[in-house]
Amino acid sequence: MGGVGNVISDSVLFTTADSIINWSRRSALWPETFGIACCAIEMISAGCARYDLDRFGVVFRPSPRQSDVMIIAGTVTRKFAPVVRRLYDQMPEPRWVIAMGTCAISGGVYNTYAVVQGSETFVPVDVHVPGCPPRPEALMHGFLLLQEKIKRSRALTGTTVDRAAAS
Ligand code: SF4
Repeated sequence: MGGVGNVISDSVLFTTADSIINWSRRSALWPETFGIACCAIEMISAGCARYDLDRFGVVFRPSPRQSDVMIIAGTVTRKFAPVVRRLYDQMPEPRWVIAMGTCAISGGVYNTYAVVQGSETFVPVDVHVPGCPPRPEALMHGFLLLQEKIKRSRALTGTTVDRAAAS
């Protein structure tokens, strides 16, 4: 339980509710299993044996109702954005969003009337993973950044703690 509390003897642990709740949340991030375009291939690769996201507690789930992370992996058209938003709305709180690839971040090369120019326009994004496409290692780094963000948040309100101000 590194970073969760202080052990002062073999059987006594001092910690805070924030630390223990955030530790449990960031150790079991369950993304939805869905992909939109070419970035999804890299996302799938990240979940396979070579990269093995499971070792970070990241386990893909087949339903938004069992998931707490949405990975937007691909180009989001204006027609499809409401579908992605509906999937987000079906996820229980607390929930987090990773925008994977330049298309999800900004529309990428598709600066057209038909493509959404950034996922923030329809869901709140916590982590951006740049690249076209980002490699699986980049997505893994995105999950580590998300874990760090959860670690620094207030467990009950979800607000982020400024480490410098808190110390
Ligand atoms: S960022 Fe590149 S690889 Fe990813 S969906 Fe867009 S075009 Fe495809």
